[in-house]
Amino acid sequence: MLKANSLFAGYKKKPFLKNINIQVNPGEVIVVIGPNGSGKTTLVRSLAGDITTLSGNVTINDVPINKMKARDRAKLISVVPQSSSLPGSFTVEETVSFGRTPYLNIFGRINAEDEQIAIHSLERVNALELRDRKVGEISGGEQQRVLLARAIAQQTPIMLMDEPTTYLDLHYQVNFLNLIKKLAIEDKKTIIVALHDLNQAASIADRILLLSEGQIIAFGSPREVLREDIISSTYNLKVKVSPMDGEPGFLVMPENGSQPR
Ligand code: ADP
Repeated sequence: MLKANSLFAGYKKKPFLKNINIQVNPGEVIVVIGPNGSGKTTLVRSLAGDITTLSGNVTINDVPINKMKARDRAKLISVVPQSSSLPGSFTVEETVSFGRTPYLNIFGRINAEDEQIAIHSLERVNALELRDRKVGEISGGEQQRVLLARAIAQQTPIMLMDEPTTYLDLHYQVNFLNLIKKLAIEDKKTIIVALHDLNQAASIADRILLLSEGQIIAFGSPREVLREDIISSTYNLKVKVSPMDGEPGFLVMPENGSQPR
């Protein structure tokens, strides 16, 4: 189980995230939402151990992640970053194979099993046909699928994602969100994903974590968090929330004629 315990974390020794307390179970999809600059990326990076903790800690099964060796941590947590600085000269298949790095022996070579895992991961994101292309020569949306495949190849129980649907068209956004849900339900992954779109959040989240200015404003089921009063005050915009007939989720829309305050 992944926990943040009274976590304070930020940049240049100044806490931005304040007093974060969460517990996330295997098989759960947690969607992190919040206005720009509310701390979504900082939270994802802190849970991955990429940002120095100022006090409190992040633990997996009660072991603090900052006490783990990088290689051990990489067997537990994979990250799908927001935008990639992927080296463009590697092929898609090589890039996905890098997900196997924590498992390589001292010679650092991937074996036939690693290769199979990389190929299977590409299949899961519907990108096998890209395997021989150079990463620098595919679109931003294709790169995003490759990043997800790399994380799948890492075979970690916890997957962290930072706005992974940003560069995807509608078709692949829906595919991507369905795959996230599948990874949680079928593979029992713990998934924490930052998303901009509240309707996407509602469609896949078991629980939604709403941040504002580095603090948790609400953490609960979509019904508990996507309330007109909570969303309107956090986003400074009057919104209307309508349950969707027979579908999981809600439709969150600015109220007719409402202007940012
Ligand atoms: P979000 O993902 O919700 O847009 P971020 O986590 O990116 O928010 O940013 C939260 C705050 O941390 C912002 O005030 C931002 O300016 C600041 N911040 C983000 N990255 C850095 C950094 N590398 N150095 C210093 N401050 C940063």
